[in-house]
Amino acid sequence: MAGLPKLENFIDGQFLATGSYIKSYDPSTGEHYLNIPDSGAEEVQKAVEAARKAFITWSKTPGKERARLMNAIADVVESRLDEFAEAESRDQGKPVWLAKAVDIPRVCYNMRAFASGIMHQTGISLAMPEVDCTNYTCQRPVGVAGLISPWNLPLYLLTFKLAPALAAGCTVVCKPSEMTSMTAYMLAKVMNEVGLPAGVCNIVFGTGPKAGEAIVTNPNVPVISFTGSTAVGKRIQALTAPYVKKLSLELGGKNAGIVFADVDLEKCLPVMMRSSFINQGEVCLTTSRIFVQEPIFDEFVKRFVEKAKSIKVGDPTDSNNMLGALISKEHLAKVQSYIDLAKAEGCTINTGLEPLDLPEKNKNGYFLRPTVITNVPDTSRLMTEEIFGPVVCIVPFKTEEEVIERANSVDYGLCASIWTENVRTTHRVAPQLQVGTVWVNCWMVRHLCLPFGGCKFSGVGREGVKESMDLYTDTTTICVKYE
Ligand code: NAD
Repeated sequence: MAGLPKLENFIDGQFLATGSYIKSYDPSTGEHYLNIPDSGAEEVQKAVEAARKAFITWSKTPGKERARLMNAIADVVESRLDEFAEAESRDQGKPVWLAKAVDIPRVCYNMRAFASGIMHQTGISLAMPEVDCTNYTCQRPVGVAGLISPWNLPLYLLTFKLAPALAAGCTVVCKPSEMTSMTAYMLAKVMNEVGLPAGVCNIVFGTGPKAGEAIVTNPNVPVISFTGSTAVGKRIQALTAPYVKKLSLELGGKNAGIVFADVDLEKCLPVMMRSSFINQGEVCLTTSRIFVQEPIFDEFVKRFVEKAKSIKVGDPTDSNNMLGALISKEHLAKVQSYIDLAKAEGCTINTGLEPLDLPEKNKNGYFLRPTVITNVPDTSRLMTEEIFGPVVCIVPFKTEEEVIERANSVDYGLCASIWTENVRTTHRVAPQLQVGTVWVNCWMVRHLCLPFGGCKFSGVGREGVKESMDLYTDTTTICVKYE
């Protein structure tokens, strides 16, 4: 570990060293390049104390001042787009061009959207003249928020929690994924630079079981926002139950794309390709089950496979590559185990097994070709479990009723897409899908003023300009008798 850069926890505006560290790897080379603090209850306790102290002032700081600081953070990050994008790519394995086009701009959008949201916050008032009373509501920040984020969209998702929490007047203790901590550390430096008061945002680095659970079970952290796997989400729900905490859980998905026979394939195929494979398929919203109506099934598969074969995979710094590396050796092995399962179950692997021609420096990286599987029964684990890699199953269907039932047959309920030229089909099918978002003839088009989240095993609660503000505030109804 000696000689390699080390991150430090960000507590009360200070960068503090810890005793032990975790190794962090560059997924595109397999090289150990960074050390992350292996924090535990002691560091978390310090961070919570700093956040509690800062809450006294931050919760009373005018909304326009909170908004000013958040906009200043966005401005600095934007001015360092290249630096942030390169760091995100090195830590996560995604192509630099993608981090530059999507991840880092979204960080700035998160900050600005919620800074603007706080300026538009209003309450409800209701007169009751019959009893000489009037009522109004006010929203109070809940207190210290615990924010726990995953590795697939590291700073993008952390700031989707951080921005509304700060805007609402909460102070925070964040824990990014131990596999992708670098850009959160860079953000901490920016927060000091723009003058965010000490203790308003604290970042503790470390693993889920040690640092994460210390946040989740801290009695002085009344609200938890978690994005990650369903297994950990369930554990957090159980751990927080005795404390009756406010909880938002954004969890896994097994999302369906439903392609009707009247689809415009020219428009559908490129989007479906992106929705199946972008970010190496490591997106909770990835389409991993494509249902195609029988009359066009063969043509769809033929054209989809041709396109998948043409996708370039490799060095994330090469802008010709659409896909970079998967997050870790262990995750690559997990995704490959589903491909082995497909072989064992006698499914057809249309593409994905061809060897990759990688530059020398990437020979030990965690790369995988886009893999397209057909002849899969709905009962196969390939069709029911989240794979979280560039692996998609395509299956035929006959009728609308049948496809709705099959799309809804999994435990997850995050999102779906419908592809048809018939507006009536759209309006009949979309509301029957048990998911948080349905995209029609598009995918992952997002406005932060709209609620986002899942149902069933995909989570509890919604995030968005209004919804997140509701999470980080408590509403008080005040009734005044004036006679
Ligand atoms: P993960 O659940 O392993 O980890 C997520 C975060 O939780 C990490 O910071 C981790 O350190 C922490 N953690 C782990 N165990 C913990 C514990 N016991 N207590 C507290 N914290 C703990 O998930 P991941 O592998 O980092 O991310 C991939 C998963 O995230 C996928 O399932 C994906 O679908 C999901 N995800 C969901 C959304 C969404 O919006 N619904 C978005 C992105 C990713």
